[in-house]
Amino acid sequence: MTQQIQPIFIMPEGTTRTSGRSAQKGNIAAAKAVADTVRTTLGPKGMDKMLVDNMGDVVVTNDGVTILEEMNIEHPAAKMIVEVARTQEDEVGDGTTTAVVIAGELLDKAEDLIDKAVHPTVVARGYRLAADKALKILNEISREVTENDEGLLKKISITAMTGKGAEHAKEHLSELSVKAVKSVMEKQNGKVVVDKENIKIEKRVGGSVEDSELVSGIILDKEKVHPGMPDSVKNAKVALIDSAIEIKNTETDAKIQITDPSQLQGFMEMEEKIIRGKVDKVTASGATVVFCQKGIDDLAQHFLSKKGVFAVRRVSQSDMEKLARATGAKIVTNLDDLSSTDLGTSGLVEAKRVGNEDMTFVRECKNAKAVTLLIRGGTEHVVAEIKRAVEDSIGDLAVSLVTGKIVAGAGATEIELSIQLRKYAQSLSGREQLAVNAFADAVEVIPRTLAENSGIDPIDVMTELKAAHDKGNKTFGIDVFGGKSVDAWKEGIVEPLKIKLQAISSASEVAIMVLRIDDVIGSGKEAGPRMPSGGMPEY
Ligand code: ADP
Ligand code: MG
Repeated sequence: MTQQIQPIFIMPEGTTRTSGRSAQKGNIAAAKAVADTVRTTLGPKGMDKMLVDNMGDVVVTNDGVTILEEMNIEHPAAKMIVEVARTQEDEVGDGTTTAVVIAGELLDKAEDLIDKAVHPTVVARGYRLAADKALKILNEISREVTENDEGLLKKISITAMTGKGAEHAKEHLSELSVKAVKSVMEKQNGKVVVDKENIKIEKRVGGSVEDSELVSGIILDKEKVHPGMPDSVKNAKVALIDSAIEIKNTETDAKIQITDPSQLQGFMEMEEKIIRGKVDKVTASGATVVFCQKGIDDLAQHFLSKKGVFAVRRVSQSDMEKLARATGAKIVTNLDDLSSTDLGTSGLVEAKRVGNEDMTFVRECKNAKAVTLLIRGGTEHVVAEIKRAVEDSIGDLAVSLVTGKIVAGAGATEIELSIQLRKYAQSLSGREQLAVNAFADAVEVIPRTLAENSGIDPIDVMTELKAAHDKGNKTFGIDVFGGKSVDAWKEGIVEPLKIKLQAISSASEVAIMVLRIDDVIGSGKEAGPRMPSGGMPEY
């Protein structure tokens, strides 16, 4: 008797599933496609991308994470690569393209090995070994930097901004960035701490990049509340108040019954007395400038203005906190508590029109622990790209000071890393050796891409570089302007060690994760991520 075998469905209808080699190939192809899109932007000679969203808004950038976030990537493995960029951005603030390009190349080299019948788990294990070793090597070849190395700090900043549209003003912008980071830097138990939140970056269209300035204090995009108030206050005594300077009953719903005109008169007089009392408390403290997080009543504005006090209302909470750090003032809630010891100081508070907006500058704060960088430039796109460049610069300076270690850029570090990984590979057995060598090949993608993006024949210059490193010139990298090899350290092309550490660890983690997947199961639901049938998304 033959029994009819029923097919067994373990997943709902509409589910897509690819497994084994084709799942792996699809994932690797998708991840590589992501890496390829940003690859051409790497380095000072990298190209820009123009991103147009469905509202028609345009962003021109060569910032890796910006590009990937705007691209709406759907393929699940490709999304994992985007995650690498995001982690890099969060942890370091720079090196996003580097991390993504290395991840793509690790997978590319892994595919070669898999094609040669090396099992993916073996490749994954070898990659793990290589990554651990790489982090050690990177630490060994790094050099120290402290807040006193002014010249070196400027070089870190310039390297971060090279090729980012900030080119012609990089001297000026690097000076501003170094000053900004040094002012907010603190030492806690001997350890350097830099909270980038304390560097406010404001951008305003108009003027030229050279007009960008660092204010030892805070810039608010708010104007003084009353035209009768002074336009500027020298040696200001600053009060920070986080409650409203108005009559209290606005929040409760009390009704007042007025039956004859004299009552109204009396009521208004009483109101005036209360407001006057509040203003008197402000002036009694000695304050000449008031920043209020809530509202300031019309009458209060009038009285303050008569007393020559400069006042701004509805300042955001985060700006209030920055003002406190910049001026040394204490934020006070109850006006009754306000005393001269709560006041902060600023050498100059002024109302100023920038572009076509009224702003308030709180300048010349002594020992300001919060500062503002005002970025100027001809158009919206220019200031936006310069802001991204300056953010990279500040990020690089901050991590350099926090870890206290930097390395040579221009591909020098990657070449040295590759050479030393190959030496390490010799200590390993057959298949793992293959994987570690593949890892060593993969990190060379950075100098190779820097060359390619500058129109330099990568083969010649890579040979030249390796020869230099073999002779002990460990900081030789690619001169993207001259087309030859050059001592990157001497040229001042230097970067934080942390960029490289983070790029290697997140790139290898994602590569290992992708390699270990042999089954991709997509739910049939419409809303879920769609798997392109060919694996490779079109760009
Ligand atoms: P990422 O998003 O990875 O930071 P970038 O486009 O900022 O990408 O490029 C960084 C790479 O450019 C690094 O490898 C860095 O060493 C290199 N680089 C920066 N300045 C120079 C320079 N003047 N000459 C050669 N390479 C440089
Ligand atoms: Mg960069």
